[in-house]
Amino acid sequence: MRTFRPQEQVDFVIVGSGAAGGIMAKQLSTAGYSVVVLERGGWGKFGHEQDYTKDELLNSNPSQADMLMSDPVRMPNTFRRTDRDRTVAGVHSYGCCVGGGTVTYGGSSWRHLPWEFNEATTVGTIAGTGLADWPITYEELEPYYTQAEWEVGISGLRVDSPFVAPMSREYPVPPVPLKSSGALLKTGAARLGLTVVPGPLAIITEPYQGRSGCVNCGMCSDFGCHVRARSSSAVTVLPIALETGRCEIRANAYVHEIPVDAQGRVTGAIYFNEANEQVLQRARAVVVSANASETARLLLMSKSSRFPDGLANSSGLVGRYLMLGNIASANGLFEHPLNDYKGVVSGAAVVDFVPSDERRGFYGGGRMTSRGYATPISLGLSGLAPGSPRWGAGYKQALREQAQHKMTITCFTTQLPLETNRVDLDPDVKDAWGLPAMRITSQSHPDDMRNLEFFRQKSIEILEAAGATQVWAPQAGDSRGSAHNRGTCRMGNDPAASVVNRYHRAHDVPNLFVVDGSNLVTGGRNHPTMTIQALAFRAAENLVRAARAGEV
Ligand SMILES: Cc1cc2nc3c(=O)[nH]c(=O)nc-3n(C[C@H](O)[C@H](O)[C@H](O)COP(=O)(O)OP(=O)(O)OC[C@H]3O[C@@H](n4cnc5c(N)ncnc54)[C@H](O)[C@@H]3O)c2cc1C
Ligand code: SF4
Repeated sequence: MRTFRPQEQVDFVIVGSGAAGGIMAKQLSTAGYSVVVLERGGWGKFGHEQDYTKDELLNSNPSQADMLMSDPVRMPNTFRRTDRDRTVAGVHSYGCCVGGGTVTYGGSSWRHLPWEFNEATTVGTIAGTGLADWPITYEELEPYYTQAEWEVGISGLRVDSPFVAPMSREYPVPPVPLKSSGALLKTGAARLGLTVVPGPLAIITEPYQGRSGCVNCGMCSDFGCHVRARSSSAVTVLPIALETGRCEIRANAYVHEIPVDAQGRVTGAIYFNEANEQVLQRARAVVVSANASETARLLLMSKSSRFPDGLANSSGLVGRYLMLGNIASANGLFEHPLNDYKGVVSGAAVVDFVPSDERRGFYGGGRMTSRGYATPISLGLSGLAPGSPRWGAGYKQALREQAQHKMTITCFTTQLPLETNRVDLDPDVKDAWGLPAMRITSQSHPDDMRNLEFFRQKSIEILEAAGATQVWAPQAGDSRGSAHNRGTCRMGNDPAASVVNRYHRAHDVPNLFVVDGSNLVTGGRNHPTMTIQALAFRAAENLVRAARAGEV
């Protein structure tokens, strides 16, 4: 890997190497620019995927050297529902390693639908919310969805349905086979007149671009993929960026400030290295791709006399319109073994309730996905049916039986963007580096909660129609911190109502770009990553054009 000296002014510093940061690194370096990627997390098993642990305890142990997720002890966050509440310890974690969230994600790769880019127009604005149209259309983004699907490697089936985004090209590899839970979802859905489609996944089903297809190991989401079947940034775009000889990935580099000069232009990024020394990496321009929550925190920490409220925050909107992501679910036991713990997490989905329907009496929609996936310890701790024995031989028998006979319908639903829901800096709690911890303030809109209950009930109906012998459904809760976080630096044409413009350039700072989940104006039906990746390809193309024209 080519390395740069921090004093050397590179063309671009990219903060974060995840879904968006990886794509930006590849596109900018292959276009001929020098790039340093500063990544807070470690290398994970980059280049040594076969060594990813499938040990459930070890995988979630923060002291593990190659940890893949953020460390809740050294990187704490706090949480409150409203400004009136006292903060409590938070639970927000995210993928924190080279490759970011894509190393451990479930891989569901849904596109936003065309009308999801202008719901304020089609559904109408909703009082008290920030539901707004995007500054770009689906038609503008469509080529980049296709590019992302083919460059990253998505499996799926192009379907002709009003509930699924239209595609100009097939997926590069076929969808994962229907699992037992998918077949049962189909049975139940058919009895209720509903439509089931295969879910698009960032998991390849056959060899593609030198990587192996999925071997259905069953320790999937939350774990690294040991055969490189999961199309993470770590095995797709980042290796190409490194091959150019113009890109350095600097791991264990925790960026805490983006400094500006007297003209208000950013000059690079200041980070803590592994030895806890503060280092300035100089750059002509900075791309922040640190994910929706950390990007906002970093901008808010980057205060200066010119930007006393945080960098690029003249609108006061950095951190606001946070959408954490809510889910509703229901579980069922079936007479025959399903063996659904094998293979990938999510396969098939009911899509009929994707659009909002005013006849329901509230705004909201979502996708219902079939799953049976449960890792052994999580099943034992929280996955058994109500009334199951919790001790001794009966407990063991319940574990054995339910691991084989259980399926879940998990519904990924809408969450309205509210200005009051936000990331900011906790005035009291500090992280292990002495920096302000992230404070999350989030309470979903009443429509979001009614929508969750709607999906919970629909899930119960489908499981019953599919013939479940026992069905149970926990009350759906309002999220306190999900890795599907979106919003916080929304894109828009009006500098007073958004943080970046339609090309991801900060309204306030000409050589600062924000490209990640923070830009989403509305959250879609929850799964954000495919849209983040398409946006990144589009942002990179426009950034290269602007750089070549001397406009950065
Ligand atoms: C277990 C799990 C399952 C998921 N399943 C799905 C799914 O099925 N479908 C879906 O659409 N999404 C899923 N997600 C969410 C998905 O991972 C994110 O939407 C996506 O990765 C966000 O992309 P991003 O580019 O915004 O940020 P990320 O991919 O999170 O990348 C941000 C990177 O920036 C780094 N960083 C943060 N702060 C700093 C700093 N100050 N200095 C330097 N580096 C920093 C982080 O360590 C991280 O590597 C899942 C996430 C997890 C954790
Ligand atoms: S189930 Fe497939 S994609 Fe998931 S970790 Fe195992 S081999 Fe990789």
